[in-house]
Amino acid sequence: MVNENIKKMADLLRSGSTMLNMACPICNNPTFRNKNGIIFCPTCNRKVLIATSQNHSNERTEILHNKEPGTNNQNKQIEILSLLQDVLFEKLEMITDKLKNETHLQLIETYTKMLLNLLDLLNKISVKRDKL
Ligand SMILES: [Zn+2]
Repeated sequence: MVNENIKKMADLLRSGSTMLNMACPICNNPTFRNKNGIIFCPTCNRKVLIATSQNHSNERTEILHNKEPGTNNQNKQIEILSLLQDVLFEKLEMITDKLKNETHLQLIETYTKMLLNLLDLLNKISVKRDKL
């Protein structure tokens, strides 16, 4: 029952739980964190275990960042990076298209260098985004 879920979620928020921007891996509904720091899904009525990244770094999951005051700033950064990513993909496509029909060796070299730079940038963006 959808309405029941919404009511349940509203009650949770009122009782001091925080809604997380992470969906339950089972039912895809929003998950919550209660005052004790336990993350759970009110729809499945079960605790949600967060898979921590396999990195060696001690980075916390994005859920923990959520509580920090810098959230807006972070969203803004993610927004900018996504936009940049889109633009770079567009250019990547454009240059690839030009490269396809190019016969002038020097221009081919120029284009491939551009592509290399674009790919490098895209790679850096995805690393940066993962850290946000
Ligand atoms: Zn669930």
